Amino acid sequence: AAKAAGKNTFRLFEPEMERRMTQRVRLEAKLRRALEREDELFLFYQPITDIRTGRVTAREGLIRWHHPVRSWIPPGDFIPIAEESGLIEEMGTWVLQRACADAMGWEDGARVAVNVSPRQLGSGRLTQAVLSALVASGLPPQRLELEVTESALLSEHVDCLGELRRIRGFGVRIALDDFGTGFSSLAHLRAFPFDKIKIDGSFVRDATSRPDCAAIVGVVADLGRRLGVTTVAEGVETEAHLALVTAEGCSEVQGYLLGRPQPHPRDAERVARLSARAAAGFAAAGTAD
Ligand code: C2E
Ligand code: MG
Ligand code: MG
Ligand code: MG
Repeated sequence: AAKAAGKNTFRLFEPEMERRMTQRVRLEAKLRRALEREDELFLFYQPITDIRTGRVTAREGLIRWHHPVRSWIPPGDFIPIAEESGLIEEMGTWVLQRACADAMGWEDGARVAVNVSPRQLGSGRLTQAVLSALVASGLPPQRLELEVTESALLSEHVDCLGELRRIRGFGVRIALDDFGTGFSSLAHLRAFPFDKIKIDGSFVRDATSRPDCAAIVGVVADLGRRLGVTTVAEGVETEAHLALVTAEGCSEVQGYLLGRPQPHPRDAERVARLSARAAAGFAAAGTAD
């Protein structure tokens, strides 16, 4: 009986695993196509604001994918697939090119921030991708900022910091993203002269109700000041969040309160159309791959 039950459990589990794997493979194929055609990928921008002056100092590029059937797919759902399949390199190159070209058109001269994933940083080809994006667009290196997470710095096999140092040598700024959520945050600050620390939104959101989280935000802001590094509070959604991170001494803020990620004006109409279609349920009625 036990054997039969075990078998049953196995059988019940198998189709679910198979379904997930099939879905993953399909999504990867669709993503590959999206990268070739480029018409399903968008780069949205979210402002990063200096608290003291109220000026937008930078805009972070955030990738968006409109899948022909499943409509908008959050980056958290397809970036891991891009990472595992190796498509992330091509995607990262596209993002860099697009971000630098778009920033050239910004009249306020704000910097553009681009997220770099672990595999991109470990590829040994990031320097080349950054340089070609700068050269193709004509954007001064000082107006480009790369955001890396702590997990991207963990690889022992590749000289990630060496590559970042080379890129920083051109004048590109390097930000440490999602600070406080990874391992050995302080060790990373010692190992590399980051230009900016981005305090993860989870600390900011909890800070108004939890003094311990407020203390963490304050200590990181102090740390930034002593190191001469800009500190950005991510995930600022309310006036209360803004008041708190201001009181704790952060220098810049990013979040829905100051502005949601928005499409480039060039894409605004298409994005609105795609979203309206999705809302009306037409996307779900499209032919499955
Ligand atoms: P991240 O770099 O930490 O980006 C910040 C995330 O917080 C974005 O999510 C943004 O939309 C969201 N956000 C901004 N303000 C608020 C707020 O006030 N409240 C809340 N709840 N969220 C806020 P998004 O766009 O879904 O991106 C998620 C992650 O995907 C990013 O985290 C980044 O790690 C990755 N990602 C996005 N675009 C790219 C890209 O072009 N390349 C790579 N490699 N990764 C990317
Ligand atoms: Mg980021
Ligand atoms: Mg972040
Ligand atoms: Mg994040």
